Amino acid sequence: MNIGKEYELLNQLYFERISGTESELKACRIIADELTKIGLDSRIEAFDVVRNTVQKVKFEVTEPYHKVYEATAYMGCVNADGLSAELAYFESDTPVSRKNAEGRIALVNGYLGMNKFKALCEAHAIGFITYNGDIDREENDLDPRELRESSQVFGNMPGVNIRIQDAIELIERQATHVKLTVEQTMQDEKSHNLICEIKGESEDWIVCCAHYDSVPNSKGAYDNATGAVCLYSIAEELKDRHLKHNIRFIWCGSEERGLLGSKAYVKDHGEELEHIKLVVNVDMLGSVLGNRIAVSTADMSLVHYIDYYARVEGYPLESSQGVYSSDSTPFADAGVPAVSFARGSAGTARIHCRFDVMEHLSQRILGEDTEFILKFVETMANAYVIPVVREMPDNMKEELDKYLGRDLLKKEEKK
Ligand SMILES: [Zn+2]
Repeated sequence: MNIGKEYELLNQLYFERISGTESELKACRIIADELTKIGLDSRIEAFDVVRNTVQKVKFEVTEPYHKVYEATAYMGCVNADGLSAELAYFESDTPVSRKNAEGRIALVNGYLGMNKFKALCEAHAIGFITYNGDIDREENDLDPRELRESSQVFGNMPGVNIRIQDAIELIERQATHVKLTVEQTMQDEKSHNLICEIKGESEDWIVCCAHYDSVPNSKGAYDNATGAVCLYSIAEELKDRHLKHNIRFIWCGSEERGLLGSKAYVKDHGEELEHIKLVVNVDMLGSVLGNRIAVSTADMSLVHYIDYYARVEGYPLESSQGVYSSDSTPFADAGVPAVSFARGSAGTARIHCRFDVMEHLSQRILGEDTEFILKFVETMANAYVIPVVREMPDNMKEELDKYLGRDLLKKEEKK
């Protein structure tokens, strides 16, 4: 395995690769070109994504003082033209906070996930404010945020994101009235999955996937150029080896916007799924300090097998059962056993911000990570029979329901 070459490709992919943009497609083509150079054919499959362009955003406090704060609009939220209302601080989902939020614009702590957004809708809030950043950093980037489609099923309202220092100021100065303006347009764009296959003898397939897109303001070195180049190395290493089973490599686009690439793949290739015996997803490797994990959305026997395999190989790895927030999940949701390999960063490598940089990574450690995943994939691809139990356990089905917000919708239907 040539880690030097893998690292070189990582360098080539070191730019913002945002869903549905030219730069995302450029990254896709770079990987495709490298595959061509080593004699591997690939194909690019397009899928639809909506891109929102924010034309105007303004957030101001109007009482008891007046101040305009820099803000980004939530992509996908509804427009508002100077919506004025009282401010409520929605600390957490409690009956009191819900009551306070009614008819008001709510300042929400931290990340606005499906649960919190659903609570805001049920509380009849009319707008929301979130914040991002580190309190001790003076210059925080203002993150563009998105109200994902999975949240929009519960309702919609205008929303903005501000810096953490400004959120603190709102509370300390006891802002009571705020005003929101959000204006955005929607366009249909294409995002792309890149697919490459190495043929074996049987009818069975192993899918190896990794997303290659990044969020805005991030060159996504760790998340997930590392996974994308790991896949490249596995393909290069296995292309001339004799394999019993087929391997399909999928570099997924638009993972960062809610696993859109893998969802599109699963949706468009329903007939293939029964032949896919295992999905191996790779999302974030090579951080200098860190911890290796393998999260299997599958029968416990796979969890144990990976645990034993790591011990045999002398690779420190925590193997567990669960739903990992990455491209393994749409496959698991379609009943295909899936495992995600990653290296946690122990606070060193950062994601979803401009500090997701090459400097936080180690070529040597990325090499070790790739080597282990490569061996595991090769072992599976040469198994006499692929041993992975097909049945998705009930506890995993429940966790998938929760992760995908279906449990929230089910509760909704019961009402
Ligand atoms: Zn990722």
